[in-house]
This record gives sequence, C-alpha cells and structure tokens, in this order.
Amino acid sequence: MRLSRYFMPILKENPKEAEIVSHRLMLRAGMIRQQSQGIYSWLPLGKRVLDKVNAIIRDEQNRAGAIELSMPTLQSAELWQESGRYDAYGKEMLRIKDRQDRPMLYGPTNEEMVTDIFRSSVKSYKDLPLNLYHIQLKFRDEIRPRFGTMRSREFMMKDAYSFDLTREAAEHSYNKMFAAYLRTFDRLGLRAIPMRADTGPIGGKLSHEFIILADTGESEVFCHKDFVDFDIPGEHTDFDNVEALQAIFDKWTSLYAATSEMHDEAAFNAVAEGDRLSARGIEVGHIFYFGTKYSEPMGAKVQGPDGKEHFVHMGSYGIGPTRLVPAIIEASHDDNGIIWPASVAPFDIVVINMKAGDQACDDTCELIYAALSKAGKDVLYDDTDDRAGTKFATADLIGVPVQIIAGPRAVANGEVEVKDRKTGARETMTIEAAINRFVV
Ligand code: ATP
Ligand code: MG
Repeated sequence: MRLSRYFMPILKENPKEAEIVSHRLMLRAGMIRQQSQGIYSWLPLGKRVLDKVNAIIRDEQNRAGAIELSMPTLQSAELWQESGRYDAYGKEMLRIKDRQDRPMLYGPTNEEMVTDIFRSSVKSYKDLPLNLYHIQLKFRDEIRPRFGTMRSREFMMKDAYSFDLTREAAEHSYNKMFAAYLRTFDRLGLRAIPMRADTGPIGGKLSHEFIILADTGESEVFCHKDFVDFDIPGEHTDFDNVEALQAIFDKWTSLYAATSEMHDEAAFNAVAEGDRLSARGIEVGHIFYFGTKYSEPMGAKVQGPDGKEHFVHMGSYGIGPTRLVPAIIEASHDDNGIIWPASVAPFDIVVINMKAGDQACDDTCELIYAALSKAGKDVLYDDTDDRAGTKFATADLIGVPVQIIAGPRAVANGEVEVKDRKTGARETMTIEAAINRFVV
C-alpha cells in the first residue's frame, strides 16, 4: 500500500475526549471515528487490525470444532417472548418497530435465534455435539459507553453456541472453548486469565470471564500470581480428547481467580500473601454453561439413544474483537505510539522514503516495496512528501513492527536502515540483506 494513495487520517494533537491511552492512540492513528455516542466507524488502518484479530479468533474456533454461520443483527421480538427475555432484558435492548408495526430488536446476543435454528433441523443425538458461531455486530444501549471501542453501544462479538445431549457432554464442549480461548488470547499477544464469574442476564450454572490485567480495566480482580506463567495448550491439542481437555480446565482453575462479583475474601486470604495479585482487568471473553435454560421454553429437543426426547444442554461463548483491539494497545504501547504484536499488525513492514523525489531513494524504495509485497508481506510504503521527522513519528505511532528506512546517504552506499519498532534497535545493512531478512 502506498501511503500517498491510502486513507489514514493521522491526528497531530491529542484528542481531548480520550481518557485512556488506547482510545487516544486509536484516534490519533486514524483507526476509528465516532459517528454518534458509542457508535464507531473502523477506518482502513483499524479495519486491518480488526480483520487480523477476527482471523485468529476464527482459526481457533474452527480448530476446536465450532462451525461458522452468519445470523442477522435485527431479530424479531417473538423469539425473545418465547424465552421470556423480551421483558427481562431492560433498557440495554434497542427495540424497533418495522413498517407493519411489528416489534423487532437489534440483537444484544443470539441465544434465542440460534436455538430456533437448531430446533428447526436437529432432531437426533447423532447430530451432536454441535457448536455454531458467528462474528457479528451487537447493540447494547449501555448507560455509560466509554473509552472508545472498549465499551461501545454497537460492538462486534464472536459468539458461539454449543448443543449437547447431556451435562457431561456439554462440559466437554465448555472445555473445548475454554482451551480455544487460552490459545486465541495467547496468539493475540495477550495473557488472559480465566476467572470464576457471575452468570448475569445470560443466566446459568458454570461461567468464566477471561480477563487481561491492565490498570485502566473496569473490573476489579483477584488471583494467584502463578497464572501469569502458566503454559498455554499447544497447537496439537486434541479437542476430542475428553480427559486431556478436562486436565487443561482443571489446571487453569486450580488456583484462586475471581472478579469482584464472585470474590471470596476468606478464600483469597488463604493464598500466601506474596502470591496474591489484586489488580484491575479488562474482560475480553466470557463463557457460560446454562443447561436447558433456553432449550426448555423454546422446545429444542433431540431423540436420545434411549428413544426418548431430551432437551439439549447448551452453552454460549463470547469474545469482543472491537474491545480486544484497544485491549492489545493498553498492553503494548510506549510514549511514541502503538507497538503491535506481529500477529495483528496492520502491516508487517513500513518502508520509509526519507527523500521522496530523489531518484536513488525512490528506486531503492520501489525495489524493496515490490520484492517484499511479492513475497506476500503486507507492506506500507511511505512515499509522501512529508518531512523525514514526520514520517518517523507516523511510523512509530501506527506501530508497524519493522521499519525499513531509505535516506540519501545510506542509499548512496547501497544500504538502508532496519528499525525494530519494539526495541528501537537500528541496523544498517545492504538493500539485498534487508530484503532477504524478511523473505523466507
Ligand atoms: P461487560 O461486563 O464488560 O459489560 P458483558 O459481561 O455484558 O460485558 P458478555 O455478554 O459477556 O458481556 O459479552 C461477551 C464479550 O463481548 C465480552 O467479554 C466483551 O469482550 C464483549 N463486550 C460486551 N459488551 C461490550 C461493549 N459494550 N463494548 C465492547 N465489547 C463488549
Ligand atoms: Mg460478560
């Protein structure tokens, strides 16, 4: 991508409305724009990061055996009357009437709709287990939307829904998502700790929130500090192995970890003082097992091996991609801007032409840009007329992991500089060596 032809509206000044660093940096880097309270556009740079986050989430959902579909944002009120949640949900639900005066709503979650899809076509235990998910916009009319896309009214959610014949089978489904979440957050460069959680309006029996420790987090959390170094389930984890997944769950729930709603002071005080971590955190995921809470009122049942009909046991599993992007920034930035983990960086490499218009600099940059693009790298080429200082500041701000800098003096020697955004380390090398370093 040539920066001269891209759309990346950088702000020079710190936006006054932004209270936390991630919101400030997302606005300054031109990643998002507020359209009305708690409702955001994702501008091209932000959209790239969001897409990469979603690709990792999708990959791990698929690995765990979940199947992607797409459900609409607008739902009919009827389904929610069936489950009894239409009246229970309260003011967070945006209620709409269509031209025939039929009550509709903008979905805050999809338990009812997915249960309806399930009951319309699954009739036998032989089709179980089943886990269906989508990555879709949700709307919740939050009392206090704030911190940019961290708590917005319209936001994106990956929501998965599992269906099983028995409680035991449903617990295995729960454990699959539990392990998939550990892997997902790890690949996003985050350490998320599963904590016992309140089941809230979704209702249910077993629930964990996945929390990232951060000073700007809205939740107050308490946990054993060993969680920070626990091993993440490997790539070759067998998600069909019931015992192996139970062992992962048991290990990751063996020590104290709870949000303030579930906090048990006495149990926490039983942890050795030096091992106690009491901190603030950001909730990036939440999983629930709720048994037959929706399948019973909505009549979602299958025929079991005994020939009888059984209400299915369900769970639901949410991750917030539009909250994860600022959460990653909260965890990874410095005074100059964002430092993206390579897995979600909007570009892999930025090529900085310090003197656009200078033939040797132009030729060198074009050569590098073409070679790295051809090798499948996402390259941003800063070919604009801006001053070198401005270009360096922009490259640091947008947090691309590697900068290749071409200035007249180095280029005259057939060389460029390669800078690592995270460490700030700079290395001078031949043009060929710079290309070869990133072409494997
Ligand atoms: P919170 O406690 O932060 O209000 P919640 O418990 O109501 O969230 P869930 O129903 O558990 O949210 O939703 C699943 C995930 O969706 C959350 O873990 C979070 O990552 C994301 N999410 C929920 N509400 C918002 C929001 N208003 N803005 C952005 N992301 C959100
Ligand atoms: Mg939650």
